[in-house]
Amino acid sequence: MPRKITESCIACGTCAANCPVECISEGDIYVIDASQCIDCGACQENCPAEAIVEE
Ligand code: SF4
Ligand code: SF4
Repeated sequence: MPRKITESCIACGTCAANCPVECISEGDIYVIDASQCIDCGACQENCPAEAIVEE
């Protein structure tokens, strides 16, 4: 299951910096491209706001 970013995102950018396939886009809330996500979990482990969940 790809990961998903929720409304709790504080737009810190840590997830995008840690994604090995660079599938996370910047924004007021960051967005994961589910079609590219390899479900590695790196973003979720490093999110300070616990804003990333498994869909
Ligand atoms: S690490 Fe968490 S809070 Fe930071 S941009 Fe990513 S989802 Fe948002
Ligand atoms: S689970 Fe891995 S591949 Fe998917 S968005 Fe997070 S860091 Fe990127």
